[in-house]
Amino acid sequence: MKFEKIEEKDKKLKFVAKDTNPAMMNALRRISMNHVPVLAIEDVGIKENSSPIFDEVIAQRLGQVPLVFDPDKFTLKEECDCEEGCPECEVQFTFEGEGPGRLYSKDLVCESGDVDVLYDEMPITELDENQKVDLEASAVLSTGKDHSKHQAAISSYQYYPIIDIDNDELTEEERKRCAEVCPRDVFEVKNDELKVADEKNCTVCKECVDEVGTGVVVTGHEEKFIFTIESICSLSPQEIIEKAAEILEEKSEKVIGKLG
Ligand code: SF4
Ligand SMILES: [Zn+2]
Repeated sequence: MKFEKIEEKDKKLKFVAKDTNPAMMNALRRISMNHVPVLAIEDVGIKENSSPIFDEVIAQRLGQVPLVFDPDKFTLKEECDCEEGCPECEVQFTFEGEGPGRLYSKDLVCESGDVDVLYDEMPITELDENQKVDLEASAVLSTGKDHSKHQAAISSYQYYPIIDIDNDELTEEERKRCAEVCPRDVFEVKNDELKVADEKNCTVCKECVDEVGTGVVVTGHEEKFIFTIESICSLSPQEIIEKAAEILEEKSEKVIGKLG
C-alpha cells in the first residue's frame, strides 16, 4: 500500500491510498476510530458539590474533556502488570473551586504524570457565593469501542474518482451545465472544452452524469482510495493513522498465528 498526502489542515488529514482494496480501507477506518487508545477521565469521587449541576453531570462533562498525553507513557489498565492502578495505567486529578465564578476544564489539575487539558475554556459548572466543588478524578486509557469519550477520530474513505469526458458527445450548453451542476467545482470550461480541474475534489455523486447523460462517465478506482481522518482527541491525525496501522498489523499477525 502506498500513501500520498493531499491535504492537511488543523486536525484533518486527507491522503490517497494506492495498491489496496476496500477491506483494507474499511479496517483502517474502523481501527482509527475505535481501537486507538485515548486517555479520558473515567472515575470521579465527589467530596463536595453545592453547585447547581448534579454530580453525575459534572462527572460526564469531565469525561468529555480532551486530555493531552504521551501515548508511549501509558498502557491499557487491563494490560498493566499492576492490580489496582499505577502511574502507567492511571492518572490522578483534582478539581476544586469556590463561588462566585465558573469552573472550566483548565481547573483540572494533574496530580500524577504529565497530562494537561487540550482546551482550557470548556465550562464545567457555575458557582454562586458560598457554593463549592471539590473532587478527585482518575483518567485511564481506553478505546472508542468502550465509550465515545475515548474515540480518537472520525474517519471515512471513498473510491478514487475516474472521470472520462467525451466533448464530442456534449453540446456547448451541456458542457456549461455540467460544470455548473457539480457541487465540488471539479470541472472547468476552457476554449469551449469541458475539462477536469481537480478530480480529487470529486465525491462520485454522479450529479454531472445525471445532468448530461452520455458524454461524461464517472467511476471509482478499484485499488485507489481517498481517505479522510479528523482527530477528535489530542493526537494528530498522522499519529492516529500510524497507530491504527500498527494495531492492524498486530491483529493480522494474531489471525495468521491462529491459522498457522
Ligand atoms: S460525480 Fe459529483 S462531484 Fe464528481 S464530478 Fe460529477 S458532479 Fe462533481
Ligand atoms: Zn498499572
